Parts: sequence; C-alpha cells; structure tokens
Amino acid sequence: MRATGQECKRVLSRTVDGETLLDIDIAEVVKRFGVVSQDLIRKDGAGLHSFTIMRDELQRVLIEALPKDLVEFHPSTTLQDLTDSTAADEYTDEGNQAPGVMCKFEDGRTMGPYDLVVAADGINSAVRQVCISEQPKSKDSGIRIQFGVGPEGVRTRPEGSEGELHQWFADGLYMLTGTYGAGPEGERREMVVAVFAEPAATIEGNENANWEVSEVQDDCKRRMTQVGAPQSVIDLVNGSERFFEVAVRYCDPFQPWGVGGFAQQDGGRTRRFRAGHVVLLGDAAHAMPPFLGQGANQAIQDAFCLAEQLRQVDQGVLMKQTMESALQ
Ligand SMILES: Cc1cc2nc3c(=O)[nH]c(=O)nc-3n(C[C@H](O)[C@H](O)[C@H](O)COP(=O)(O)OP(=O)(O)OC[C@H]3O[C@@H](n4cnc5c(N)ncnc54)[C@H](O)[C@@H]3O)c2cc1C
Repeated sequence: MRATGQECKRVLSRTVDGETLLDIDIAEVVKRFGVVSQDLIRKDGAGLHSFTIMRDELQRVLIEALPKDLVEFHPSTTLQDLTDSTAADEYTDEGNQAPGVMCKFEDGRTMGPYDLVVAADGINSAVRQVCISEQPKSKDSGIRIQFGVGPEGVRTRPEGSEGELHQWFADGLYMLTGTYGAGPEGERREMVVAVFAEPAATIEGNENANWEVSEVQDDCKRRMTQVGAPQSVIDLVNGSERFFEVAVRYCDPFQPWGVGGFAQQDGGRTRRFRAGHVVLLGDAAHAMPPFLGQGANQAIQDAFCLAEQLRQVDQGVLMKQTMESALQ
C-alpha cells in the first residue's frame, strides 16, 4: 500500500460558491479519536499512512500479501452450495466424517469439511442465500451516482491537490474528486463522482442498463454546469475515459435476519451473520452506499475483528463451544 497507494492527508469540503464547510486534516482527526498503531505513523513524522487507491490495485496488493504457504488462491472458482453438518448435528468426535462445512463448487468439486467458512462473496453472496432463509429485500433509495475515471497519469485537478479529497456541495448535487494510486510504478488516476436524488423509476432501466458511457458523461456534465461546478471538476468529467452510473438501493438496517439455528433477538435489533460455522463479512453482511467510501474499509475491519476473535480459539481441535463463543 505504501508503495502503490496515493497518500491522502486532507478532505476539503466547499460549496460551489467557494464557502469552506469542512477542512479535515486526516492525521489530526484519527489521532484525536483513538489510539494509533505505530505502523500507521510515518517515520518522517509527516502524518499518517492513509491512502486512496483504485480497487483493482488494492486487490492486487492484498492478493500479493497472502502467505503463499498458508493460503491457496483459486481466482476462477465459484462456490455453488454448502452444507453445514455442525448445524444439523451435535458436535461429536466419533464417526468417519469429521464435523464441518462442505463446499460445493461450480466445476463439480466438493471440498471440506472445514471448521469455519468465511464468506466474503459480496453483495449478492451465494453463501448468504444458502444460510439465510429470508433474503433481505432492497429498496430504491432515490439516490444515483455517476463515476468518471481519468486516463492514467493525466492530471486535471489543481496543482498540489493529489493528497486531498475535494468535496463540492451544490443545490441538488454533491461532487467529489480525488487522485488514486493505480499501479506499482506510482501510476495515478483521477476520479470524479456526482451524487444526486432521482428515483430509479424516472429513468428507463436500472444500474448501467441502457447507459452508454457518453450519455452518462454528457448527463454528468449537464448537471455540473447547471449548478456552477468549478471548471477543474468539469474538465475532469470531460477527460474521463471510463464513466458509469449506479442506483443506490438499501435494506432496512434493523431487519432481523434469521440465520441458521443461531439467530438471536435483542429488542428486535440483533442480527447474527453465521449459521453454525459459517461467517459472512464485508458486503455479504452489510453493503454500504458506494458514495460513503466505507465499504472496502468495513470489509477489511470485519476481517481484522474476526481474526482477533479466532486468535483466541484454542489451537488444535476446535471445540464447538469455543468456536461459538469466539463468533458470538
Ligand atoms: C461504484 C462503487 C464505488 C465504491 N467506492 C468505494 C470507496 O470509495 N471506498 C470504499 O471503501 N468502498 C467503496 N465501495 C464499496 C466497496 O467496493 C465494497 O464495499 C467492497 O468491495 C466490499 O468488499 P467485499 O470483499 O465484501 O466484496 P466484493 O469486493 O464484492 O468481493 C466479493 C468477491 O467474491 C467473489 N464472489 C462472488 N460470488 C462468489 C461465489 N459464489 N464463489 C466465489 N467467489 C464469489 C466476487 O467475484 C468478488 O471477487 C464502492 C462500491 C461501488 C459499487
């Protein structure tokens, strides 16, 4: 990340009329709100290591960091089904088949049994569909987002703003520009985001259906021009080589999802994302609106928290009770 991400130090929010709404020094805010790990602090004392990075590049960095002797990576393997023998029966050491979770893949292979399956298979999680009888139903939020990505190495944003996220607020339109790490050799790409309210029903099709790149780009430019967006933001829209639009859908966050035999209620608000020895994390458990810039962060935090809990489980044979208490 340090080699490839774009260091991000500041978030500057302004109205299109030039009024400053927020000016956040990221290092200051993080220090004020919590204990900062020494790894996060730059050796030269110039703040924290915090980055903006394109998702394909983040994925490459994370895959490269996997301990090869411990983790097998099968990029084209699609999970189809799983059976959780530990949820069906009481834990027993007897019998030929060890208790655990069996995974069935599209290529016909079945693997397992596993003590624990950690499913980070995204917003349409196949594992969630197997484990949770009643799938959450999403609703249109009425918010749409357009994303434009500039060509590699081309700079349109103001001089010296690489380490800054710029937010612009106008009547009916929120805009964001940023510079992102895009490759191991220090490549950078600029990105522009426009968020506005417009129910999906008013636009034919949903997501990217019927939306040619140029149409989204033209529409974005029209909206920005209408509200008097800064010229540098409009230039970034004009120069973008990739453009797409998504509608934000949402679920009732407190919908009590029944999960296997372990669903628990606490004033109707508790959800347990596990069925026996299956755990969901990231978007599979809780998708975030794309414009909050939090979804990937949350997925990584989930993995960190889960690892912290599992570290406390005894080494060797995992007793069901111990695993359960760790997952609790
Ligand atoms: C347009 C957009 C912009 C965003 N911007 C930001 C941002 O700026 N900052 C931020 O933090 N977040 C952002 N997010 C959210 C972020 O991308 C997600 O929250 C994050 O990727 C979730 O990570 P995940 O690992 O849970 O799921 P994913 O990244 O969706 O990964 C799931 C993986 O599982 C694989 N998979 C799916 N089904 C199966 C199966 N059956 N078998 C095997 N593999 C399977 C998929 O191929 C995929 O590789 C954005 C999202 C969108 C859509």
